Amino acid sequence: MFEVVPVSAFKDNYVWTLRDARHAAVVDPGDAQPVLDYLAREKLKLVAILATHHHPDHVGGVARLLEKSRVPVYGPKNEPIPTLTHPVSEGDTVTIGELGAKFSVLDIPGHTRAHIAYYGAGSLFCGDTLFACGCGRVFEGTPQQMYASLEKLRALPDSTKVYCGHEYTLANIGFAKGVEPGNSALEAREARDRTLREAGKPTLPSTMGEEKATNPFLRCREPAVVESVNKYLGSRVSDPVGVFAAIREWKNRS
Ligand SMILES: [Zn+2]
Repeated sequence: MFEVVPVSAFKDNYVWTLRDARHAAVVDPGDAQPVLDYLAREKLKLVAILATHHHPDHVGGVARLLEKSRVPVYGPKNEPIPTLTHPVSEGDTVTIGELGAKFSVLDIPGHTRAHIAYYGAGSLFCGDTLFACGCGRVFEGTPQQMYASLEKLRALPDSTKVYCGHEYTLANIGFAKGVEPGNSALEAREARDRTLREAGKPTLPSTMGEEKATNPFLRCREPAVVESVNKYLGSRVSDPVGVFAAIREWKNRS
């Protein structure tokens, strides 16, 4: 068994650290120093590194961590990450024996061309694809791909804990309220998450059930969301991919 602890990096990244009393594995170590500090303070031995996609704020610390410990590095096949030792894609399983952890790999392209997620033990590590009350920008894929990736994640059980790569929640909720002003679940979420941030705590993990109730990018079929998007566009769109693309563009400009 393992617990999951956030190690903060840069301004708003989280390096999710899976640990027991002696071992640790890290997800998306964009910076090595905060991870090395945490491992030293807690007297933990690094046993694996997992990467969701190739952006430097997610893999920039890998090389330096490898100088200290030669451990397996899992990450997306078909993305330029020279430090990978175990390239994986959907259908593969990642087993971290020391922690009793086993994850299925899911392909969730869109933010980058071969972005992956790790799903297991009721937890999802989804990098920059699904955010709390938001989603990543579509840099290398198409809106169609990103929408399909989010739908794949949306199909996971409501109880799934969502561990994403950044603390963007309050800003995302602010945007979501503009898209869906009548959604009372957003008000409740904002009140709770504001209290957490004021106490210096992460708003993560969230749950998939909560994302389904509040995240506009997972609500592209909701009549209120569709209506709001049509108002924004000044034209009629009703297919979910079109609605998704419009919300994404709206968010980019906001
Ligand atoms: Zn990214």
